[in-house]
Amino acid sequence: MSSKVLDRSDIGALFDALAGEGYRILGPTVRDNAIVYDRIDGEEDLPVGWTDIQDGGSYRLQRRDDNALFGYAVGQHSWKEMLFPPRTELFRVERSNATLRFVPTAVPEVRYAFIGVRACELAAIAIQDRVFLGSGAVDRTYQTARHEVFMVGVNCMVAGGTCFCVSMGTGPRCSDGYDLVLTEVIADHRHEFVLESGSDKGEDLLARMPGRPAGPDDHDQVDRTVARTASQMGRWMGNEGIKELLYDNLQHPRWEEVAKRCLACTNCTLVCPTCFCSTTEDSVSLDSAVATRSRRWDSCFTLDFSAVHGVPVRSTTKDRYRQWMTHKLASWYDQFGSSGCVGCGRCITWCPVGIDITEEVAAIRATQGVMA
Ligand code: SF4
Ligand code: SF4
Repeated sequence: MSSKVLDRSDIGALFDALAGEGYRILGPTVRDNAIVYDRIDGEEDLPVGWTDIQDGGSYRLQRRDDNALFGYAVGQHSWKEMLFPPRTELFRVERSNATLRFVPTAVPEVRYAFIGVRACELAAIAIQDRVFLGSGAVDRTYQTARHEVFMVGVNCMVAGGTCFCVSMGTGPRCSDGYDLVLTEVIADHRHEFVLESGSDKGEDLLARMPGRPAGPDDHDQVDRTVARTASQMGRWMGNEGIKELLYDNLQHPRWEEVAKRCLACTNCTLVCPTCFCSTTEDSVSLDSAVATRSRRWDSCFTLDFSAVHGVPVRSTTKDRYRQWMTHKLASWYDQFGSSGCVGCGRCITWCPVGIDITEEVAAIRATQGVMA
């Protein structure tokens, strides 16, 4: 695979090339005081000169002292919104006199280019690929949106305040799953991007881009950038033996402690790039001529989610928090062969009371040997 260095003034060529190939370009942009993923037309729509300050239960944007295009971590949105939308109409039933007609809803075929996908997000998409495409039944909405995506990854130049991808082995360097990956370099009066291809599609596009071939100094700069980001990471997930740790501690008193703070608001599951639970809803038009069945995101934190014959199996917040965390960090290995967490930190930032999954694991681990 090849690599090139693009000057900041040439980055528009990437957008032009993708648009020229018919891709709908989605990427980060500033809206409502946050960085969200949405349709963008060019580099002027990116969060130029912004960074994000994150901690448990807290997120705000702040101006950088440069004009970096990718100088922030991740916001509340993830690419899951595009591949597994929050609400999807599945089919309609149309009534005409005594006849019912079932009409499946067409899945729109759009060629997406995702710009600015972080290493942890590539890992999350790989997990959702296994969930939606690789575990028996194929989800056609996900499959249609996913199969032509052109993925432009970004190696992180700063760590978010709640990130812990290093401990999950998922970042901050993009290692897999991209067509192109870029590293932004702002140093010595230079503002450049080191672009590396990761697929044949990426190689073709890179060949048509302006710029000079990347040399050893440029690759060293990439290494230094990701090493600096890794060293900034303030949180760590202790993963060793985590599955057994959680399975052995289903009655640990810490679950009661966290349940006193948890509001069961569902935020953590909605922002999580790997959570995939959904429910179905039926609605009927006012004249009863059309009924619609839709799928919408659900959460294991809602009381109804575990209802069987009208009775919830997990009736307390303690039961639901324990279910979420043990699924994410333990039974996910049995179900999908990996952790369900990629260390993006969103569930910590967007938890209104700042519950921190790394702290919860550490608290249970700290008592091992003490409680025995
Ligand atoms: S559990 Fe939290 S840190 Fe892990 S992937 Fe989900 S949102 Fe990110
Ligand atoms: S852990 Fe936080 S974000 Fe998740 S349901 Fe509880 S209060 Fe909401």
